[in-house]
Amino acid sequence: MVASTFELFKIGVGPSSSHTMGPMLAAAMFVERLADAGQLDEVTRVETLLFGSLALTGKGHATDRAILLGLSGQRPEHIEPDAADMLVEEIRSCSEIRLNGSHAIPFDEETDVIFDQKKRLDFHSNAMRFTAYLDDQPVESRVYYSVGGGAVLDEDQIGSNNPESGLWDVPYRFCSGADLLRIAADEGLSIAEIMRANERTRQEDEAISAGIRAIADAMSACIDRGILQDGILPGGLRVKRRAPLIHARLMERQERALSDPLTILDWVNLWALAVNEENAAGGKVVTAPTNGAAGIVPSVLRFYERFAPKADAAGVETFLLTAAAIGSLFKENASISGAEVGCQGEVGVACSMAAAGLTAAWGGTPLQVENAAEIGMEHNLGLTCDPVGGLVQVPCIERNAVGAVKAIEAARLAILGDGTHRVSLDEVIETMRKTGLDMSERYKETSQGGLAVNLVEC
Ligand code: SF4
Repeated sequence: MVASTFELFKIGVGPSSSHTMGPMLAAAMFVERLADAGQLDEVTRVETLLFGSLALTGKGHATDRAILLGLSGQRPEHIEPDAADMLVEEIRSCSEIRLNGSHAIPFDEETDVIFDQKKRLDFHSNAMRFTAYLDDQPVESRVYYSVGGGAVLDEDQIGSNNPESGLWDVPYRFCSGADLLRIAADEGLSIAEIMRANERTRQEDEAISAGIRAIADAMSACIDRGILQDGILPGGLRVKRRAPLIHARLMERQERALSDPLTILDWVNLWALAVNEENAAGGKVVTAPTNGAAGIVPSVLRFYERFAPKADAAGVETFLLTAAAIGSLFKENASISGAEVGCQGEVGVACSMAAAGLTAAWGGTPLQVENAAEIGMEHNLGLTCDPVGGLVQVPCIERNAVGAVKAIEAARLAILGDGTHRVSLDEVIETMRKTGLDMSERYKETSQGGLAVNLVEC
């Protein structure tokens, strides 16, 4: 199965695609279902139970806010962060919620949103159950799973990793890196052209380009906003935003920068930090492929736009289409969820996608692109997910800066070779999947291991 570019890259809000965007979407789907069945107006109470990783790190990942917004009928792609703050404030102060934006019921967050930290559902760690009541009688109850990158499965869709593209009939069906390389060789197409040909079955070329431009613009706007915001990130860890200070320093030393070959890395670091600080603050970001790893692709894309001698709009499209093709392979054959396979599934996948995108935009061959994607993941294998305080801040923000630099390094290594290499992308994807299976649950977005328990609080 092939995931669309527009499924991998979704515009939404922080701090987490699986713990914020997914639960918001699931809650919105539940109340819409009630409305479609004509049951909404008879509902007197809705209870939300959160399980597994959602229960363990949901508070830090703003899952509680996301549930309130989703039950109010809000969806991640449409919501504005400031308006969301006001709506949550209103629900909490009035102890009342308007289900699907229309039917008002009493709402007591203490008893109506329950974090069940002892229970994990078998199919996926990010599970939630919504139950609607008429007085004390349940009228509807449904389980949803947030499976990564903001995607949601309801209980009838178990077994499909990709509900959105399940029925997508494409001219170039690829399930592996080997498939991509074979199609590219047989048809004389680049990986971006294969992806674009598939997208054409859903929309015209012009709409595809406009959609990609909107993604690139949203990424760029997030960088620019993050650079300007100062202060302490929310959540209680007292993590200070670094992007504005680094930006000011870089602007001050422009002359000296000419003799410092590593200045470019400072800019790459800055752009990634800016995005992930925005994400941690609940700002508008693009999943790439997740929110926790949202800084890598934008940072490397801007590196391409600023520093590649022949950078242009076509190169940006090539970059993002190629990155999406690689992300699709990870999504279908392994996972892009930190709660399922650790941070290798988020920062590792983003690094692989960005490395492939940059190599393609630089004019690399499909073999070199596949090589770059493989390098980008190989050196992230085993990366654990251990967010301190359940917040998407430490180690997440800095990890994106390191991941962006690593992606450039992977692209550079690939472009220096001819694309032949010992470990294939498919082998590394399978290794990532198996490593994720072997990984202790403690290191899968539970905040029960690693830095999350070993960081000494001052
Ligand atoms: S450690 Fe990685 S996977 Fe875990 S929340 Fe942070 S960015 Fe996401």
